[in-house]
Amino acid sequence: MCTRDPASNQLIDYKTNDAEVQKECTASTGVPVGVKDAIQTVGPRGPALLQDFIFLDEMAHFDSERIPERVAYAKGAGAFGYFECTHDITKFCAATLFDRIRKRTAVAMRFSVACGENGSADTVREQRGFAVKFYTEDGIWDIVGANMPVSYVRDPSLFPSLVHAQKRNPQTHLRDADMFWDFMTLRPETLHALLMYFSDRGTPDGYRHMHGYGAHTYRMVNATGEAFYVKFHFKTDQGIKNLDTRRCDELVAHDPDYAIRDLYNAIKKGNYPSWSMYIQVMLGEEAKKCRFNPFDVTKVWPQKDYPLLPVGKLVLDRNPTNYFTEVEQLAFSPAHMIPGIEASPDKMLQGRLFAYGDAQRYRLGTNYMQIPVNCPYRVHVKNFQRDGHMTVNDNQNGAPNYWPNSFCGPKESSRALALQTCCPITGDVYRYGSGDTEDNFSQVTDFWTYTLDNCGRKRLIRNMSEHLCEASQFLQERAVKLFTMVHADFGRLMTEALNTARISKF
Ligand code: NDP
Repeated sequence: MCTRDPASNQLIDYKTNDAEVQKECTASTGVPVGVKDAIQTVGPRGPALLQDFIFLDEMAHFDSERIPERVAYAKGAGAFGYFECTHDITKFCAATLFDRIRKRTAVAMRFSVACGENGSADTVREQRGFAVKFYTEDGIWDIVGANMPVSYVRDPSLFPSLVHAQKRNPQTHLRDADMFWDFMTLRPETLHALLMYFSDRGTPDGYRHMHGYGAHTYRMVNATGEAFYVKFHFKTDQGIKNLDTRRCDELVAHDPDYAIRDLYNAIKKGNYPSWSMYIQVMLGEEAKKCRFNPFDVTKVWPQKDYPLLPVGKLVLDRNPTNYFTEVEQLAFSPAHMIPGIEASPDKMLQGRLFAYGDAQRYRLGTNYMQIPVNCPYRVHVKNFQRDGHMTVNDNQNGAPNYWPNSFCGPKESSRALALQTCCPITGDVYRYGSGDTEDNFSQVTDFWTYTLDNCGRKRLIRNMSEHLCEASQFLQERAVKLFTMVHADFGRLMTEALNTARISKF
């Protein structure tokens, strides 16, 4: 007999464990519905009547069921659990979730596929999103990261084009190799991320077997107000596992929701996935002297210079009880920070601080933070914001909605003030192009030479050449020129692979 996995059995489980016995069905107004399968008509053959509120109520709600999907990272899976602090990092950070070892803080996580739409396959070669929401006693802290430690571009003004180039052609509505390779090769800072994208880690085996990275540089502040630059790493405790191209293709055809299913089943079976959290720390003085720009998100901080320091563990032990409510509406923003954690000058981060909240307001409405899964439930929110679409809480009743006031409105927090750093910044206001002013190659050369082994390099060449050979000849040539600047072998092997691909096309 064929055994069914927990995901396939969800409805049976519902009937057995959760269903409320003989509950009557209602319309959205709560009025009981007597007949659920017949519209009100004049005579058995119609026409229908506009007075049938039961039908109109059902139909009108159905018509507006969908909310805009995320422009990027549209398809995803989510789950809930906790973060446990395992190491003392209070000398770097006063954020409450780190204030004692063994302290647990509730988390929500969402994993996603970068550029496919909500119905696309989980196992295609794409960057994966890795986002964590910490429900702390100081409010919400989000890390909106990915399974790669670097981003493609370092200036947020290129972000919309980066996404457009990877999504659909505006006329053909197809993914387009010319768009992809044109953008990437015109901006050589994309090389580091590109090599990771086409390496084995570009096709992780589900979401449980990949690392996560905050990627951006952030700033931590300790209880005495000292600040440190940090990067966040989350290493999978399940071990890295990737899918080879053949298996990816099989899964695209037979189980396009492979990663969602894998995460759901693992948690349902009590096989809770976890990640060990680390930070890399850089002092302010070190940042000034650093040989590369530590705020450039296309670069990593070498681990031999900035070792990984253990911090804690993320564990996922609960599946969403409803996908739409708890995952589709789960809204992350890098701007959601708490006392003890601040932004760094990383330009890409600065751009994302605006973009994510803006996108959530468009997708979910101005009161998206009132949705239970986004709500900082451990804090009683008291501020001067009021009203707006879908105000579903008490709207702070009669409390003063202006500041300052003389009527017991909320006051400023001395703790938040003490943890706020004061840093001098001077400079000339200008739009500083960043394409060629940074070193776009050294770390990519290190990745090619030292991080990958021989077999890894061969697989990267195969994966990349299969994609690049679909692009126009001049783009292939431009790409090979850049690869040769990374390493002569890279350029040569890619030329050979492209020639072979061309011959096999005839
Ligand atoms: P290290 O040798 O200290 O670190 C290498 C890192 O690369 C490890 O974290 C390793 O992960 C990871 N890695 C291995 N294969 C891949 C892959 N196919 N795609 C992405 N990451 C991979 O070296 P450095 O810190 O000096 O960095 C050298 C190069 O390694 C960098 O230029 C960068 O490209 C890459 N790298 C560095 C990271 C960092 O935070 N410093 C993180 C990820 C990549 P694991 O722990 O599983 O072995």
